[in-house]
Amino acid sequence: MQLLEIKKLPEHLINQIKAGEVVERPYNVVKELVENAVDAKASQLHIELLDGGKQLIRITDNGIGIASSQLFTALERHATSKINKFEDLEKLASFGFRGEALPSIASICHFTIKSRPASQEVGKEIHIQYGKKSSEKDLSMPCGTVVQIKDLFSNVPVRLKFLKSTATEFTHIHDFLTAMAFANPHISFRFSHNGRDVFFYHAKKNLNERFIEIVGLDSKEYTEVNYSRGTFKITGFAGLPSAAKTTPSYFITFVNGRYVKDKIVRSGILQGYQGLLTKGLISPALIFTEVDPSWVDVNAHPSKTEIRFYDASSIQELVSIGIQNAVKESVHKYSKPNLE
Ligand code: ADP
Ligand code: MG
Repeated sequence: MQLLEIKKLPEHLINQIKAGEVVERPYNVVKELVENAVDAKASQLHIELLDGGKQLIRITDNGIGIASSQLFTALERHATSKINKFEDLEKLASFGFRGEALPSIASICHFTIKSRPASQEVGKEIHIQYGKKSSEKDLSMPCGTVVQIKDLFSNVPVRLKFLKSTATEFTHIHDFLTAMAFANPHISFRFSHNGRDVFFYHAKKNLNERFIEIVGLDSKEYTEVNYSRGTFKITGFAGLPSAAKTTPSYFITFVNGRYVKDKIVRSGILQGYQGLLTKGLISPALIFTEVDPSWVDVNAHPSKTEIRFYDASSIQELVSIGIQNAVKESVHKYSKPNLE
């Protein structure tokens, strides 16, 4: 029998395979690009979508930009400015670190990136078609970066087939952007869909101002959460029983600055409310959990919406105590008769 030839896969094919892991739907693209903009210290972000991101995703930021001489490098696999050595992962301060997002995304769409750092008079623009360079040019533009994705998955028929409705894709992206707006009150977030503004949150001084801007609760309907033990800390805002509903509009959790839909933290919050809420009701909550970075494995999942705690039950318990202390104290305060 004839032996088969073993060959190294071409780069664009590796990127397409990788894209299958990183990018399942338009939401993943928006997440990667918005996180890149935040990592680049942008103070203004504009996210534009057509058709739930299926037709077009464009993210414009005013961050530090990418030097023209580095723009191609940014599109190479495993090229990142965020880590140098393995130990850097333990004190990671950025969202990104794999250097995989841009090349993966660029391999499954019509991709354009243009960028200009403040140190340059002009910027550079590169077009990539399904992972292969199609053109480049210098151009004048404001400082920052614009990344545009057209016709996502147009060369990946299986993915295209399984894309959900515009409304479903929109909701995933909307929820993520709302979470990012909470996490970054100093950044202005403008979100447009099919040419109309969905929201435009202007830069705020602090989280409290942003919380009121987005959730719109009265000051007596929520409480600040602030609890720490050792290196563990939870902060944020929790609705009081008067704000509870059958389905809360906001139930958003972060771990070490990362928006995650983490079961452990969520169970901790619900446990904290036990005995304080009428059965079946749930309160809005915006909770930031900070733990020692060595307690979590951020490497657990490439799309990074899940993380793994090494001691999950302790984390759940600590979250629950933090919530319960804050809510109980406020309920007590507001239930006191007003003697003035
Ligand atoms: P990662 O974020 O894991 O480093 P990416 O593929 O997302 O990998 O991006 C590669 C590199 O391109 C980043 O490390 C960063 O240096 C640069 N980059 C990407 N997006 C932006 C942006 N919006 N502004 C400035 N630099 C960016
Ligand atoms: Mg990135």
